[in-house]
Amino acid sequence: MNSIENCRQLLQKIYGFDGFRPGQEEIIKSALEGRDSLVIMPTGSGKSLCYQIPALVKQGVCVVVSPLIALMQDQVSALSQLGVSAAFLNSTLAPRFQREVLDDLSSERLDLLYIAPERLMEPATFQQFQKLEISMFAIDEAHCVSQWGHDFRKEYFELKALAEYFPNVPRMALTATATERTRNEIIDRLELRNVAKFVHGFDRPNIRYSVEVKGSGNAQLIDFLNAHRGESGIVYCLSRRGAEDMAQTLCDLGYDALPYHAGMDSNARAENQARFLRDDGVVMVATIAFGMGIDKPDVRFIAHINLPQSIEGYYQETGRAGRDGDPAEAFMTYGLQDIYLRLSMVEQSDGDELHRNIQKDKIYSLLAWCELATCRREGLLNYFGDNAASECGNCDNCLAPPRTRNATEDARKLLSCVYRVGERFGVNHIIDVLRGHKTAKVNQHGHQNLSTFGIGEDLKVDEWRSVARQLLVRGFMKTDFEDHQVIKLTPEAWSVLRGEVPLELRFDSKQRHKRDRADVNSAEEVSMTQEHAQLWDALRNCRINLAQDAGVPAYVICHDRTLREVMQFRPRTHSQMRNLHGMGEKKVSLYADAFIKVIADYEFSSPVNC
Ligand code: ADP
Ligand code: ZN
Repeated sequence: MNSIENCRQLLQKIYGFDGFRPGQEEIIKSALEGRDSLVIMPTGSGKSLCYQIPALVKQGVCVVVSPLIALMQDQVSALSQLGVSAAFLNSTLAPRFQREVLDDLSSERLDLLYIAPERLMEPATFQQFQKLEISMFAIDEAHCVSQWGHDFRKEYFELKALAEYFPNVPRMALTATATERTRNEIIDRLELRNVAKFVHGFDRPNIRYSVEVKGSGNAQLIDFLNAHRGESGIVYCLSRRGAEDMAQTLCDLGYDALPYHAGMDSNARAENQARFLRDDGVVMVATIAFGMGIDKPDVRFIAHINLPQSIEGYYQETGRAGRDGDPAEAFMTYGLQDIYLRLSMVEQSDGDELHRNIQKDKIYSLLAWCELATCRREGLLNYFGDNAASECGNCDNCLAPPRTRNATEDARKLLSCVYRVGERFGVNHIIDVLRGHKTAKVNQHGHQNLSTFGIGEDLKVDEWRSVARQLLVRGFMKTDFEDHQVIKLTPEAWSVLRGEVPLELRFDSKQRHKRDRADVNSAEEVSMTQEHAQLWDALRNCRINLAQDAGVPAYVICHDRTLREVMQFRPRTHSQMRNLHGMGEKKVSLYADAFIKVIADYEFSSPVNC
């Protein structure tokens, strides 16, 4: 019986969930009908279930294509904890185990198989798979097939062969990020047919966004982290060196911080990733090499101390926070230097002119978002073509609206100074001229004689930098990378210079919203009394021990939400445990006794609480 009712029962019995989340049911239905589909849903919204449930219901094996080799093991062990027969095939698996998996496949013992695209497309594997009964292909991180996306991988391009060689096997392409253009490209390039499209809101209401202009030193980051002591999170940096140094700084401040970047030895990297996944409260200081597909549900914060490469990238990276639905924070600092660095990275990258222009465009879109004075969530959602309310109440701009001012005169001063110095100098020199600083460079070029020399003494250096940044972002001037990063005017500058366009710019104040620990923690956690805290710790320790015995991360045993429900309902029997979130049959049989014992011991030792 392939009915949706059957699926609901599986959801309850295997996963211990009460109902489907928005979107899941229709997607599962269309998969059961054998249609190709494109599934765009935010991170943490439950995409995996959309192919796992059909995989359990349908005959044959569901082949899950994923670029994330390092995570396959965890996905498979999480499924085994639920009693689902799943395996993975990739180069990390010893030949003996590879043979075992292939045996299991040919004797139809598997419901799900995870595989990397390059492995699937190897001729021997590809031929062997043609002999199998395959229920469907789930193509995860499907945006990797798109050149307009931000993470193109050529192995994904080869996947279009599936359409030809497996014409009767339905395919589901899934991703968390895709603009309209990328969506169409996924459909075209994978040759999906008669596609059912499911696009679910990009909003992650539990993530609070805030962006600050970078001051000197690490004070802003440290202040941010102070509100997150003991929590898991990721700090993203641009360079390997930056990641190493920052990890050390944080360790010195007493954080359990680890570096992660492409320059590290692969064993050390794997070790750090494993620690992040398994232990509570690790701060990973990483370059973007870390994190794709990290499905640790209790990551409480993501901090970017440099500008990310695009809104898509930023959304994806910040999306790793708060998958469990509890409050989480995304924090970014950036400055002019980051803008130069990002743009020059694009300038030096291989790829054709078109590709470089797309990438630059993405940086400017992100910068425009950073400079917003209105709701950040609205800005993000609009970018992805989602409708959004105009005030979310959970971003820095909503919580403490930035002030703006009419900066037309300042903009004119700065642009005319760019013009007067012959469009041959960088921002620092232009600011020196505006502020009337007689530097060696000013003297050398006789710039103390310009009409713009000293006309901007009333603004501080930071204030001029802010004006400069906003003029760059809004396209009134540009950086010439072919020519020592000098600033040049764009044709649009002239309308400002002639006074035809009034300009509202935002004031930058660092740290506009005072951070407060209670602000970002879940209500339950904050209202916890001391006795509660004791039980909470006992339950968490119990979970850690179970996790160690099973060789899986603690969150695979159960999420914090389940532990909170254990605290609240104090179950004494297996059937009471079955009512709790995430407690399916298999998990109850494995872990209920341990949790029930913790409750019993606690109540025995503190009878007041019974
Ligand atoms: P995605 O792949 O979209 O990022 P996942 O599939 O990893 O998200 O799911 C995120 C979390 O949500 C997981 O911990 C998962 O168990 C949980 N989840 C998924 N579907 C449901 C549901 N119907 N009810 C409760 N929790 C769910
Ligand atoms: Zn907002």
